[in-house]
Amino acid sequence: MQYRQLGSSDLHVSSISLGTWLTTGVGIERDKAVACIDAAFDLGINFIDTANAYGLGAAETVLGEALKGRARDSYILGTKVFVPMGPDDKGLSAVQINKQLDASLQRLQMDYVDLYQCHRYDVDTPLEETMAALTEAVASGKVRWIGFSEWSPQNIRDAMAMVPEFAKFVSSQPQYSLLWRRPEKEVIPLCAENGISQIVWSPLAQGVLSGKYKAGADAPSDSRAANDKMNRMMGGWNRDDVYAAVELMKPLAQAAGCSMSQFALAWVLREPNVASAIVGASRPEQLAENAAAANLAIDPDLFVKAEAIAANIPKP
Ligand code: NDP
Repeated sequence: MQYRQLGSSDLHVSSISLGTWLTTGVGIERDKAVACIDAAFDLGINFIDTANAYGLGAAETVLGEALKGRARDSYILGTKVFVPMGPDDKGLSAVQINKQLDASLQRLQMDYVDLYQCHRYDVDTPLEETMAALTEAVASGKVRWIGFSEWSPQNIRDAMAMVPEFAKFVSSQPQYSLLWRRPEKEVIPLCAENGISQIVWSPLAQGVLSGKYKAGADAPSDSRAANDKMNRMMGGWNRDDVYAAVELMKPLAQAAGCSMSQFALAWVLREPNVASAIVGASRPEQLAENAAAANLAIDPDLFVKAEAIAANIPKP
């Protein structure tokens, strides 16, 4: 495993990390979710990403139980706030941040989280109020560092202008993969200038970049695309033209001597501002395959060829 500094924080996260959206407490059986968490530790993965909203608290509850016996300093845990937990429980107001943080800590059975992330930007709450509440959460010791997910460049600039009066963000969580490169334009350069790392979501485009889906064929029965609890959220990547394009990338992975999933993850990690690729996993073998991507050195020419194939795919 490889470890990368998370922005200007003192955290060093594994470059492949484990996410819990759709899977933990929701789309896969509990024992499989726990097996994936245990496998993560065996593979040197030290960063786990969750959110209060994943399974409306279910992912945090499973994590709390699974991590209970482990030394608190043996892993880095990030969770999030913003997405509705009930009709009146949403957003980034001071009341919500305090309430949702306490509820997350209770489900996680922890005294603090290492990273507390704003799941989205809240246009209904003044940024000053959000930043003051996050700063207070850090001062209280319940949160070590703060981050955001899918904030616009202007949102990020506005927050940076409030430092040092308020706590500083150290991480950004955007979607980023061979199929979705939007953060490269503004978010990555802006964050790199400001000591903020990317910890990216869906680096395998929800499994599509593993190459296991075939145009014109049924999805494998044990896959996310075939699972009705999970496939509604696949964001437009489960399409025959995308599958066909990934098929064209496979010889490139073969030339690099790795699997298609490893190739796609190594592509994400070629970007120095990416501290970690957060992968989902429905079984430990996937995590083992994905973790091995951390140590690959791949000929950049192969990446350029894959980028050219991906550039022809219409975005969802
Ligand atoms: P991925 O792109 O890594 O997709 C994960 C899924 O792909 C797995 O659950 C598995 O599904 C399949 N898969 C993984 N590895 C392999 C492999 N080696 N071979 C074949 N199939 C494989 O990431 P996710 O979309 O799950 O997102 C990762 C994490 O990012 C989330 O868990 C969450 O923590 C975070 N996230 C954050 C968001 C935000 O708004 N901030 C939004 C979305 C996610 P299966 O076996 O079922 O096919």
